[in-house]
Amino acid sequence: MVQPYKHEPFTDFSNDQEREGYLLGLQTVEGYLGQDYDLIIGGERVSTEEKIVSYNPSHKIEVVGRVSKANRELAEKAIRAAMEAFKTWRKTKPELRADVLFKAAAIIRRRKHEFSALLTKEAGKPWREADADTAEAIDFLEYYARQMLLLKDGVPVNSRPNEFNRYDYIPLGVGIVISPWNFPLAIMAGTTVAAIVAGNTVLLKPASTTPVVAAKFVEVMEEAGLPKGVLNFVPGSGAEVGDYLVDHKDTRFISFTGSRDVGLRIFERASKLNEGQIWLKRVIAEMGGKDTIVVDKEADLELAAQSIVTSAFGFSGQKCSACSRAVVVEDVYDTVLKRVVELTNQLTLGNPEEQSVYMGPVIDQNAFNKIMSYIDMGKKEGRLVAGGGGDNSKGFFIKPTVFADLAPNAQLMQEEIFGPVVGFTKAKDFTEAISIANNTEYGLTGAVITTNREHMQQAREDFHVGNLYFNRGCTGAIVGYQPFGGFNMSGTDSKAGGPDYLLLHLQAKTTSELY
Ligand code: GLU
Repeated sequence: MVQPYKHEPFTDFSNDQEREGYLLGLQTVEGYLGQDYDLIIGGERVSTEEKIVSYNPSHKIEVVGRVSKANRELAEKAIRAAMEAFKTWRKTKPELRADVLFKAAAIIRRRKHEFSALLTKEAGKPWREADADTAEAIDFLEYYARQMLLLKDGVPVNSRPNEFNRYDYIPLGVGIVISPWNFPLAIMAGTTVAAIVAGNTVLLKPASTTPVVAAKFVEVMEEAGLPKGVLNFVPGSGAEVGDYLVDHKDTRFISFTGSRDVGLRIFERASKLNEGQIWLKRVIAEMGGKDTIVVDKEADLELAAQSIVTSAFGFSGQKCSACSRAVVVEDVYDTVLKRVVELTNQLTLGNPEEQSVYMGPVIDQNAFNKIMSYIDMGKKEGRLVAGGGGDNSKGFFIKPTVFADLAPNAQLMQEEIFGPVVGFTKAKDFTEAISIANNTEYGLTGAVITTNREHMQQAREDFHVGNLYFNRGCTGAIVGYQPFGGFNMSGTDSKAGGPDYLLLHLQAKTTSELY
């Protein structure tokens, strides 16, 4: 009997043993820095001349690893391998498929601190954020395995006398998983294993800034007993390999997490029929956010300030769930803003390998440039009240930054920045605050800080986001507890870590026999 699902607890780093464990993990990772990683196609390792070089964003000359880079020819080979493996994997019992995930979860749990330390090195995640990313990867493995066990016999339908009807879920085929760098373990693993446990075979193209953690994860899946060809590892450029795979006639579905622009490009390309293609491709897309915390006048204002600060600056705001807008009712605006500035100025920015550091770097030079240009824009559109500076001499560090008095339609309040920048807008009352919160093209997360029950109800009805939180921040959804995904331009309304997620990777088949 499989135990009920429970999420993986976060590590208490005040415990000496845990702290030692993390430092040991860091040593392990330091022992393999700079190594080469191969592509994996049909279980075979393939090394290419051209490499994707992964650097440490806190220390930009440190090479985390060098990963072989797929081209079209190798991508084609990987599609063939995945098609071949699909013939048997689709018939492999769901229990066996789930077992691979359970074992992979156990392996990662044993190597938890090593994986977290690798996330610190490769993505610049401070200890707590890295630990949460690793825990979430374990959660996805544990949760989707159990979800498959629930779906394995389909769902009951009616049968008349002398008739036997069944309604079963069968896999789709070959899927392309294109994963992001901001949860380079959790989302990469979650999107991959959801597809796999459902009986599909996969080509995984991880983000080019964080391919090493993906390579390590693929090794774990091999160790857990995944047959050859079920998971093919094909890092490469979006323009060369990504487009090719998305367009391919044998691609059955694409599971993408990343920016709005790339998501739209995939959605559009996937809708075109290619020669020889005999299905409509499915696209699962999890895109951006422009997430708002609304603060009511009847509210715990300290809680409001804390929630804004942690949601805006955790992992340097590089979450699609991050709070980048605070909409505060005018009666309490000055008080909340003042406290947010105080708390922001207390945050520590630096090398995330240090336990005491709250905020590390942003991911790379492009991100640094983009965020700094938004900060320049903010100086024109609003009033800079905290942060505003950046230093990319050693790594890509940007101070946690707060702008006050922005107009709801300011560019800073409309466009996803994906960095440590939050803008404040004043609302005359709660109803106006909700309508400002809704005035973006996104609809991912939001939070409302209020003690007024009627206002809570109003927000439940009118605040149009996929994940709405009360009296807490708007980041940190837990698999199986707060299924995660948004409306409008935030994606295809898919809910990762939720009870419907696997169905997106399956199709229902009705069978009917007359006795
Ligand atoms: N699931 C994460 C959260 O709730 C965010 C995922 C993302 O940024 O893509 O904070």
